[in-house]
Amino acid sequence: MASVECMPIIGGPAPRRQSRKVGIRWGGQLVTVGGDSPIRVQSMTNTDTEDVIGTAIQVKELAQAGSELVRITVNTPEAAAAVPEIRNQLDRMGVMVPLVGDFHYNGHTLLADYPDCAEALSKYRINPGNVGKGAKRDTQFAQMIEMAIKYDKPVRIGVNWGSLDQSLLARIMDENAARATPWDAQSVMYEALITSALESAELAQRVGLSADKILLSCKVSAVQDLIAVYRELGKRCDYALHLGLTEAGMGSKGIVASTAALSVLLQEGIGDTIRISLTPEPGGARTGEIVVAQEILQTMGLRAFAPMVIACPGCGRTTSTVFQELAASIQKYLREQMPVWKAQYPGVENMNVAVMGCIVNGPGESKHANIGISLPGSGESPAAPVFVDGEKVRTLRGDHIAEEFQQIVDDYVKTHYGQAPGVVAA
Ligand code: SF4
Repeated sequence: MASVECMPIIGGPAPRRQSRKVGIRWGGQLVTVGGDSPIRVQSMTNTDTEDVIGTAIQVKELAQAGSELVRITVNTPEAAAAVPEIRNQLDRMGVMVPLVGDFHYNGHTLLADYPDCAEALSKYRINPGNVGKGAKRDTQFAQMIEMAIKYDKPVRIGVNWGSLDQSLLARIMDENAARATPWDAQSVMYEALITSALESAELAQRVGLSADKILLSCKVSAVQDLIAVYRELGKRCDYALHLGLTEAGMGSKGIVASTAALSVLLQEGIGDTIRISLTPEPGGARTGEIVVAQEILQTMGLRAFAPMVIACPGCGRTTSTVFQELAASIQKYLREQMPVWKAQYPGVENMNVAVMGCIVNGPGESKHANIGISLPGSGESPAAPVFVDGEKVRTLRGDHIAEEFQQIVDDYVKTHYGQAPGVVAA
């Protein structure tokens, strides 16, 4: 075999695409998206916005789960009238999250007729495919942009394949037919999505909105389409980009499809804020989409939100369900503590906890984590060594391993993560 000079293997994502930083404000608060800001996690309620209390409660749940922006539907006069009440309710509850208004068809009217709504929202989402037909399209789009200028709000121009501007699509198809070698239908679709976003952004700027008040999205529901569209959109502009696979679906299908699409783009440095459009199971929590978004960013090493639990999958060497139960309970416990811990113990979100099923990989993986436990596999003595920062510190036995391990984790957090100024630990 010919000798090949060995080069160091470099890991990690590509440098972040350079984008404009957009400020999203409410009260005296500010969240930035784009530029050098962290990649933001956002979500959307599924309550009826006219239900002020129900919507405020869900926004609070989403914010507590980690959503840094929350979008609400503004579809009727009653919903528009409810928006300032929802904002007030959130302020009374101390919920520090900006509200984004999602408008379709009648946004120009609602924003004009309900100035308190226009003021209470921190950002407007405008779908250029749903602002009006024919000559009304540009006029009504411009009216919404004028409201954004008047109230000093950023906008997301959110194109969606399911509601693409049909007159624009017809124009792009005509242009394509005139080519010596016409493109295939898929390429025409990509071009139409990107053109809709970019031409709408140009129009917004001609109306007077500055470029650093504009975010773009071009959502589709197929993974390969999303990757192709955002790669090109990212090249053609420097607006901040909102990433998301629309109509991702339920359960594992929605999680896998969203993760597959967003991981590729994030690895290439594309994307300033993400939303995972999961359909909750009937009765399921809306906050599931936040957990998925955070776990995508954290497992890719792009941000840290909560301590990670590393658990082996278990196999024929695993003697019981104790190991699975411990992995599940400690993961739930760590996530539940984060609303308090992130204020009291800065840096705790970078902690790793390993829960392993037997001696094969248990001690090794546990030594690499901040805290690890190796439960006994079949044929092993009923003892669970615990490792802290690579050193074996204790061996747990008996019926209270889960409680004792949780106490070790608690003690580690209290002694290893810095106290925020002015915070007294419990
Ligand atoms: S660590 Fe042990 S129990 Fe877990 S998967 Fe590996 S061999 Fe199986």
